[in-house]
Amino acid sequence: MKLLVIEDDVRMAGLLRRGLALEGWAVDVVGDAVDARHAVLSTPYDAVVCDVGLPGPESGLDWCRWLRREDIWTPVLMLTARSDVRDRIEGLDCGADDYLGKPFAFGELAARLRALLRRGETERPTVLTNGDLVLDPASHQVHWAGHVVELSPRELALLDYFMRRPGDVLRRTEILDHVWDYAYDGTSNVVDVYVRYLRVRLSSAGAPDLIETVRGVGYRLKALG
Ligand code: CA
Repeated sequence: MKLLVIEDDVRMAGLLRRGLALEGWAVDVVGDAVDARHAVLSTPYDAVVCDVGLPGPESGLDWCRWLRREDIWTPVLMLTARSDVRDRIEGLDCGADDYLGKPFAFGELAARLRALLRRGETERPTVLTNGDLVLDPASHQVHWAGHVVELSPRELALLDYFMRRPGDVLRRTEILDHVWDYAYDGTSNVVDVYVRYLRVRLSSAGAPDLIETVRGVGYRLKALG
């Protein structure tokens, strides 16, 4: 098993290299995001340990987002400042698989890495795409061909549900169950109302009509290439 460690602090990098080598892993260490890009593009690693705080304009979180955009699904464990809850949430939202706050017990790091290595690479995009339509659940941003689509939280939740099932006919009751918190009665037209809002928002951003009405059943988001 081969690991990449991205850590600029020389002392911490040395500790990680020695400790992980003792676990029987081959370890490469780089000190910034640029070197880390070159490393993952030239070597297939089994897992990456990445510090959030890196020198230069790119943080560990930026680097991890780049990695997933490149369609590289190597497991990533983020090292964060223990006190910073925001870092931890962002760490997971940027496509990392796990995080550990500094300072940490080395045994815990090794155990978490073993768990990630068992899991291996699985594709789990953090951003939903359907043709030119892109929805980022972490930042709540939606774009059509680069144009911002302004959505209310409910409209966003509705589109999110459609985008996880492109091409499928979704029944009104199914949509109600997944997008609304409490049960409406079956005669409620709230789904129709929100689909109408969503169509208006999408067309304002220049999108064609992507949501088809399936008479008597519900709706379908056209699956784009
Ligand atoms: Ca650092």
